[in-house]
Amino acid sequence: MDGLRLQFWFHGELNDFLPPPQRNVAFEHPVGPTDTLKHIIESLGVPHTEVGAVAANGKLHDLSEPAADFAEIEVFPHQTPVCLSDPRFVADGHLGRLAAYLRMLGLDTWYERLADDPRLASVSSGERRVLLTRDVGLLKRREVLYGYCVRSAKPHDQLREVSSRFALSPHFAPFTRCMDCNGLLCPVPKEEIAEFLPPHTRETKNEFSRCRNCGKIFWRGSHHARMLEWIRNLENETILSPGRA
Ligand SMILES: [Zn+2]
Repeated sequence: MDGLRLQFWFHGELNDFLPPPQRNVAFEHPVGPTDTLKHIIESLGVPHTEVGAVAANGKLHDLSEPAADFAEIEVFPHQTPVCLSDPRFVADGHLGRLAAYLRMLGLDTWYERLADDPRLASVSSGERRVLLTRDVGLLKRREVLYGYCVRSAKPHDQLREVSSRFALSPHFAPFTRCMDCNGLLCPVPKEEIAEFLPPHTRETKNEFSRCRNCGKIFWRGSHHARMLEWIRNLENETILSPGRA
C-alpha cells in the first residue's frame, strides 16, 4: 500500500534545519500510521525544542498527537526573544568558551567538558536548564524539554546569539560567578588570602573575591576594564536588535 502523504510547511528560522528544496515552501512527505507529529517533524530535521507551535488542519495541536490524523501541517518557531524569568543553562562539551562567557556575565551555566549526551539531557531536564548545543540529534532526545541549537560557530557570536534570543541583558551580573566551576563569588578580605597571592598582586590590589565552591581567588586585572566595555557593547547590541543574531 502506498503510504499516506501529508503537506508540511515550516516557518521562519526552522528553515535553518531543512534542505534547500523544502525551505519556505509547502511540500509533501510520507508518514507512517503510528508516527507522531514530533517523530515526523524531527525526521525532517527539526528538533522539537525549536518548535513553538504546530498547526494541523488549521488548529493548534500537541507534538505527541498522531500525524496521520491530519492533511496539512504548519510548524512555527518560538517567538523571540524567549524571555526567561530565571535563565539557567547547560552547555554541551563543545561550547566551553560560550559557557565561560555566560558565567562571566553571572549566568548560571552547567558545563562539564566530557559530559556525554545522556548526562547533558538528564541535567537539562532534571534541573530545568536550557540545553545549549550545536548537536541537533541531542535536542531530539525526548527528555530534553528546553533547548536551543546554537547556530554560530564562533564563541563571541554564540554569546551574542544566545543573549539576544533569551533577552539576557537584564540578567547580566558580571564577575559574580566563577568562570571555572559556576560557583558564586563573594568578597574576601585581603588579609585572609594574602599568602596565596603573587607578590605584585599583593602589592597593587586591594579588592578580592573567592569562589564559594572551588575556592579560586579573583581580582580585577588589567583586562577587567576591557571586558566591561565588551559587556556594555553586548548590552547595547542586544537591546537595539532583539531577536536572532
Ligand atoms: Zn569556582
